[in-house]
Amino acid sequence: MAPSRPGTDIASEARKLPRVDRLIGAAEEHGWIARLGHGLVAEAARQVLESARREVLAGSPCPPPEVVESRFLSRLAGAARGSLRRVVNATGVVVHTNLGRAPLSAEALEAMRLAGMGYTNLEFDLEAGERGDRYGHAAGPLVRLTGAEAALVVNNNASAVLLALAALMGSRPGAAVLPSPHPPEVVISRGQLVEIGGGFRIPDVLRRSGAALVEVGTTNRTYLRDYEAAVGERTRLLLSVHRSNFRLSGFTEDVALADLVALGRRVGVWVVDDLGSGALLPTRRYGLGEEPTVQDRVRAGADLVCFSGDKLLGGPQAGILVGRKEAVDLCRRHPLMRALRVDKVTLAGLAATLAHYERGEAEREVPVWRAIALRPEALRARAGGWLEALGPAAAGAEVQESASAVGGGSLPEVTLPTWVLALPPGDADRQAARLRGAEVPVVGRIEEGRVLLDPRTVLPGEDELLLAGVRHALAPEPA
Ligand SMILES: *Cc1c(COP(=O)(O)O)cnc(C)c1O
Repeated sequence: MAPSRPGTDIASEARKLPRVDRLIGAAEEHGWIARLGHGLVAEAARQVLESARREVLAGSPCPPPEVVESRFLSRLAGAARGSLRRVVNATGVVVHTNLGRAPLSAEALEAMRLAGMGYTNLEFDLEAGERGDRYGHAAGPLVRLTGAEAALVVNNNASAVLLALAALMGSRPGAAVLPSPHPPEVVISRGQLVEIGGGFRIPDVLRRSGAALVEVGTTNRTYLRDYEAAVGERTRLLLSVHRSNFRLSGFTEDVALADLVALGRRVGVWVVDDLGSGALLPTRRYGLGEEPTVQDRVRAGADLVCFSGDKLLGGPQAGILVGRKEAVDLCRRHPLMRALRVDKVTLAGLAATLAHYERGEAEREVPVWRAIALRPEALRARAGGWLEALGPAAAGAEVQESASAVGGGSLPEVTLPTWVLALPPGDADRQAARLRGAEVPVVGRIEEGRVLLDPRTVLPGEDELLLAGVRHALAPEPA
């Protein structure tokens, strides 16, 4: 309980708070008004005074004006750093959705810089001197790399799936215009009615596309005959969804995509595969277990395969549709396409990322794959280097063997052997909070009460930032 104080006392305490003008004057003196604008500075002044006033009302003595002023100035310094900030990812999770998924290659960034800096031939055919096709820019490499007939790029994979369903629902393969049944039906296995994260639930997306959902099989086992029994007059599409963020194990049965495709052909309905992560490189070679590649899914014959640009592809946020020309054309012409289209900067970054794959250098140049390909010996040496550089400042820290996750809706339960720097035993939550409070925040992971920093995802050139964060976290706290 706060000590109770007579009302007049509270009023006279509150009067000791500095005036807004004084705070704004201090901001002016430090150059903050020129940097941040008057509106932001005035708002911060009011907020800082308001929270000090609440302290007084709760019975605390009025903080001295210098304290209020210094809180205000550090709030402005925080605002100057902006809201979306660079962080050092020491979690070891290679595709970390909360940390912005794939970091981009130097070439992708340069292509994006050039596209953003000036004008481009985004929708301009330079040979003919007339309107050109925005989507052709990334379609060429996508077709060559995946073996598909055609490709289309939209804003993210959630929109790719939405577009695929909406665009194909009104027709059958080879018979573009048909009287639409009401409602058209999509058949999907109960074992694939998944939530991807961030509230993206496959059943909800299906409903939004105007389709009726026909669930077949059970949570753990679905057979081809379940699909066969469910296909009827209204069926327009068989949907397969990759279980990208969990594993189904034990007594299970799934239908191979190729078998689903054969059924689709036989009864004349579309087959769409939501692959999620969309690796172009064979994951097994990297100790990641068996994950279907985009090429595998195209080869199995799906009319459309949908995947993300910023998961295992390692490019900017995008949703990619590859598959048969007839299906891709229906998507391209659908009215939703306009609402889901990508901008020139994304297309430039995606095309440059795909070029790494075309040149066979993805493992070396695409940061996601570079991180996946790192060998334990190299990781151990790097963590050891950190320990050495920290010296007595990190007494009690040690290098430990551990495991990194791939993450980001990719390869659930698969881990890669790694070595980490474990911070000295202590209040791990507190240490993690102090790491996040560094000038460039550092995000690690906590295991068994220790903060672990995994070199796998700390980019080349970020060692000094990481060390600065650790020194900040382990420094004696100001009183
Ligand atoms: C990640 C994922 C999505 C969503 O992709 P975004 O690019 O995040 O929109 C959809 N389906 C599956 C299977 C996924 O793994």
